[in-house]
Amino acid sequence: MAYAVMHILAVIIFLDLLRHYVFKKNKFPRYLVVLGGIAGLAPDIDIPLGGLLHLITGKEILSHGTLTHSFLLALAFFAVGIFLHSKKNYVWSRISNVIGVGIFFHILLDCFYGSGMEKFFLWPFTKILSACNLWDLYPYGNHIDAVLLVLWLVHEEVHQKVKDWF
Ligand SMILES: [Zn+2]
Repeated sequence: MAYAVMHILAVIIFLDLLRHYVFKKNKFPRYLVVLGGIAGLAPDIDIPLGGLLHLITGKEILSHGTLTHSFLLALAFFAVGIFLHSKKNYVWSRISNVIGVGIFFHILLDCFYGSGMEKFFLWPFTKILSACNLWDLYPYGNHIDAVLLVLWLVHEEVHQKVKDWF
């Protein structure tokens, strides 16, 4: 699994680039970028929540890397986003889609970083995604975080986008 910083940073950078280069800023308000970043970390809520449930019930009700780390959960948010868009509820459609992007990125990163949870990414099905074993980036996590953050800051400064954050 990737570190928490990467889970947030990767989604924020992706959504911020979309905001600047694909959508107009007024169609893609800044809160969506922040929400996406939080959604990028959200699947790991199963760690404290699972621990709490275990403490209360004494049973393993929510295991790390199952329900919240399933690509099907991301697809469910995209499906809701498409449905809401068809009903012309654009605000909640975008919110649902950025949450889907956050969850999707989280699972992708856990896959690339080698999480040992490959058999859960299509939960509740048990198909193992063998491509996840190829990357094993976990030992380089801190370095990748730092390089990505520096590159993004340089991009924001060079293209004079830092002021957009204030
Ligand atoms: Zn995770």
